[in-house]
Amino acid sequence: MKWSLLTLAVLLPLSSQLWAADDCATTIEGNDAMQFNLNRIAVPASCDEFTVELKHTGKLDRSVMGHNWVLTEKADKDAVVESAVKAGLDEGYLDESDDRVIAATKLLGGGETDSVTFDTSQLQNDKPYEYFCSFPGHESVMRGTLIVE
Ligand code: ZN
Repeated sequence: MKWSLLTLAVLLPLSSQLWAADDCATTIEGNDAMQFNLNRIAVPASCDEFTVELKHTGKLDRSVMGHNWVLTEKADKDAVVESAVKAGLDEGYLDESDDRVIAATKLLGGGETDSVTFDTSQLQNDKPYEYFCSFPGHESVMRGTLIVE
């Protein structure tokens, strides 16, 4: 009896965590044709944190077809792209000191995966957010909208 109570106490928090992880996470793919497979990500308002996993499904090296996932306010996007390109390949095309970046993964090459978890309290329901790849020239195609709903 003691044992089964203990098991229950261990399993219950675990299962609720798994459930929450499903609800507050998404996977987005980038490929060798310079495309994301999603142009919109909806973050449930009930999530305290949200995780985005980026998978590079292609084969090309990060130096020629690198992809990352960068989230900013829509109004900040162009300036962040500029600072990212200046930062260069060695920095993964992201200026880490740029505090306009809300969340970002590493720059990936083909076959690689990275994820980022961010605090959703930074997001406001009435503001548009945009995500994009900051590799030079990619953001005009590899972009999407993130909303809280
Ligand atoms: Zn890219």
